[in-house]
Amino acid sequence: MNPPPLLVDNATLPDGRTGMRVWAQDGLIHAVAPAHALPEPPGAQRLDAQGWLLSPPFVDAHFHLDSTLSHGLPRVNASGTLLEGIALWGELKPQLTEEAIAERAMQYCDWAVARGLLAIRSHVDVCDPRLLAVRALLDVKKRVAPYLSLQLVAFPQDGLLRSPDAPALLRQALDLGVDVVGGIPHFERTSADGTESIRWLCELAAQRGLSVDMHCDETDDPLSRHIETLAFHTQRLGLHGRVTGSHLTSMHSMDNAYVAKLLPLLAEADMQVVANPLINITLQGRLDSYPKRRGMTRVPELLAAGVNVAFGHDCVLDPWYSFGSACMLEVAAMGMHVAQMTSSSAQRQCYDAVTVNAARVLGLQGYGLEVGCRADFVLLQARSPEEALRLRAQRLAVVRAGHVVARMAPATAELDLPGRPNAVDWTVDLKRQDAD
Ligand SMILES: [Zn+2]
Repeated sequence: MNPPPLLVDNATLPDGRTGMRVWAQDGLIHAVAPAHALPEPPGAQRLDAQGWLLSPPFVDAHFHLDSTLSHGLPRVNASGTLLEGIALWGELKPQLTEEAIAERAMQYCDWAVARGLLAIRSHVDVCDPRLLAVRALLDVKKRVAPYLSLQLVAFPQDGLLRSPDAPALLRQALDLGVDVVGGIPHFERTSADGTESIRWLCELAAQRGLSVDMHCDETDDPLSRHIETLAFHTQRLGLHGRVTGSHLTSMHSMDNAYVAKLLPLLAEADMQVVANPLINITLQGRLDSYPKRRGMTRVPELLAAGVNVAFGHDCVLDPWYSFGSACMLEVAAMGMHVAQMTSSSAQRQCYDAVTVNAARVLGLQGYGLEVGCRADFVLLQARSPEEALRLRAQRLAVVRAGHVVARMAPATAELDLPGRPNAVDWTVDLKRQDAD
């Protein structure tokens, strides 16, 4: 017997249409129309949106599920730097078990679903002769598949050329079913080794028909220019649209004249970029006195150059970051602040960076609110994407393939004030128009 259809009634959509009905059937969106134009399908399960925002689900384009929730094991990162985080992860690795990694990753996936985050690209460290994390996350990927799309990147955390067995282990991880080729050129011993690692990894991806997503230039050193090499090999090997540069924090500190040449090269190679605002603002600039650099890559400039930019959460409660809760609205709101993307249209771009742009980085099929798309969505206690960002809106309901998989009570507070309403409403009907 087929499961009953789901009818979401009285929804506001991200494009501003109100009073909309969305009919989901057999896991797909069957119809999207105003209430008067779409009669209720017989036997449908109803979800009354009460005018709240129905959005495509959040997508995280950059995460580390193998280290998540390991904060404090075996100790906390005292300097707060990327390099101490890598050293700390190295201390923890020998103590890890497949079960513990899988258990923590599963718990994080629960958090993600509850927050309307239904697709994650996770890097997985392959610099471990036992490939424990790879095996654990491949198992997690299967277990969560009914409710969360997980994509894995073979990530040589200790350096492809710096860690003796990394090339063989990376190939083995791909053989086991890891989806994407990763890298970390700025962490190789020399810049020349970084360049060589990019050539090797891109050729491997081309041979196997895979995508590439490298941690690239995650440093404040303006002379870390591996992104240029990554764009070159993307062009040379015809990998257009399949290559992502993650972090690119050195671009924050580069000379403007160099960046003016670089951005069109990224656009020409149809590269994707992922910035990780929460992590970049906490890890970068640590060796600065004052003024302290922000470290995040040049998001508005990349977007203006026609490059697809997504935001990732990167870390939650691990050797690199002591905070987080799978909230992609927090990620986008931080990006909005760090990049000063304050106009209404720029706020919308930040929302896109954790929804449609991130879906494009992952190459997700059937993502969106159009007829024929997968019936995946999140109902937010907000009237617009901008308001969702401002409020880090409550996820009232999360739907996967036409089934409600999570619900949260609306956020409110009871008041007892003379002459005032007895409950708080944080929503405001703002007239938003950029003066341009
Ligand atoms: Zn990362």
